[in-house]
Amino acid sequence: MKSRKLLMIPGPIEFEPDVLQAMAVPTTSHVAPNFIDVFGNALDMMKEVWKSTSGQPFIVAGSGTLAMDMAASNLIEKGDSALVISTGYFGERFKDILETYGAETTVLSAPIGEVVPLDIIEETLKGGSYKLLTFTHVDTSTGVMVAPEAICKLAQKYGVLTILDGVCSVAGEEILQEKWGVDVVLTGSQKAIGVPPGLALLVASQKALDVWKNRKTPVGNYYASWNNWLPIMIAYQEERPSYFGTPPVNLILALEKSLSIICDEGIGARVQRHKRLARAFRAAITSLNLSILPTEDVIAAHTLTAVYYPENIDGALLRAHMVADDVIVAGGLLSEIKTTYFRVGHMGSVSSNDLLAVLGALERALQSQNYPFEMGVSLRTFQDSLI
Ligand SMILES: *Cc1c(COP(=O)(O)O)cnc(C)c1O
Repeated sequence: MKSRKLLMIPGPIEFEPDVLQAMAVPTTSHVAPNFIDVFGNALDMMKEVWKSTSGQPFIVAGSGTLAMDMAASNLIEKGDSALVISTGYFGERFKDILETYGAETTVLSAPIGEVVPLDIIEETLKGGSYKLLTFTHVDTSTGVMVAPEAICKLAQKYGVLTILDGVCSVAGEEILQEKWGVDVVLTGSQKAIGVPPGLALLVASQKALDVWKNRKTPVGNYYASWNNWLPIMIAYQEERPSYFGTPPVNLILALEKSLSIICDEGIGARVQRHKRLARAFRAAITSLNLSILPTEDVIAAHTLTAVYYPENIDGALLRAHMVADDVIVAGGLLSEIKTTYFRVGHMGSVSSNDLLAVLGALERALQSQNYPFEMGVSLRTFQDSLI
C-alpha cells in the first residue's frame, strides 16, 4: 500500500525527486572545485529567476526569516524610519525585525483579505522621511498578493529603498527585480524554490549595497552581516575558495538542481502554470460555496489559497479527515481568525493531479460532516477550468 502523504501546505512543499537525489551524495569540502562550480552556478541562476542582472545574490544557511533579518540588519541603523506595508502575519514579523535594529516603524495594515490602497501608501510616504519600506508579495497567512511594481514606483518617487518579502512568491509569482527596481527580494528554500528547508536566499541591488557600504554605524548582527558574506559570494562567483561559515553543502547541491529545473521550465512558463492551476482551484473551491479569504480575485495569490470553513463545520476535524485520506493542508495562521480557515499550498512542482487529489479529499471530508453539496462538483469545475 502506498503510504506517502501529499504535502499541500504553503511550505515546505513536495520536492522533485531529482532535487532530493542531488542531496543524497557524500558531502564534499566546501572548497572542493566541483562544489565551487555548483555554488557559482546557483548564484548565477538566482539572478535569472529574480530577473536581476546587476544584483548581488546571497545564499546563506538559515530559513526565510534569516533573509528578512539579513536585509533589515544590513540596511537599518538606529533611528532610521521604516514603513511596513502589512497584509498579514509576515508584515508584523518584519516590523519586529526592523525594530530589533533600532528602526522607528510605521505600519500600514490592510484589513484582513485586502491590500493597502496605493493612495494611502503615497500619503504616508509624502508625510514622512523613510529610509526603506518592506512589503510582502504573497502573505502566506492570508493568501493575499500585492502588486509590487506600483509600490516600487512610489518608493522611487520618494527616494525610499524597497525590501520585498518574496518567501511565498519567488519562483511562483512574476518577479522582475531589476525592471521594478526592488532593492532586496528575499526568500527561503522550502517554498516555491522547491528545496528542503534550510537556505535563506536574497538578491540585493547595487543601490542597497551602496547604502550598506555608507553606513555610519557597524551592522548590529554578526552572522547576517554582509561584511562577512559579500566576500564569500563574490569568491564563489569568481570560482575561488573561501570560508566564513561552512555552507550547507548538500542543500546547495539541491538548490542548484532545483534552479536548473526552474530555468529549464522557463520562469515565464512556470508563473503561467501557477496562475492556471490557482485560478482553476479557486473556481473549484467557489463551486462548493466555500469562500476565499482575499476579497477580490486580482489580489488572490497563485502560490496558495486560503479558504474559510463553512458554518457548522469543525475545521480541525475536516483537516484530520483529509490527513487520514493522505492529503495534508494547513490550518489558519493569522491569530485573529486562526480557527476559521485553512490554507492549501500549490507552488513549486505542483500539478493538476495534486489539486484533484486535494479536491477529492476535501469533498469526502465535507461529506463526512454532512455539508450540503453535489459530490464531484469541485472536481468537475476544476477540470472544466483547465480545458
Ligand atoms: C514562510 C514565510 C516566511 C518565513 O520563512 P521561514 O523559512 O519560515 O523562516 C516569511 N515570509 C513569508 C511571506 C513566508 O511565507
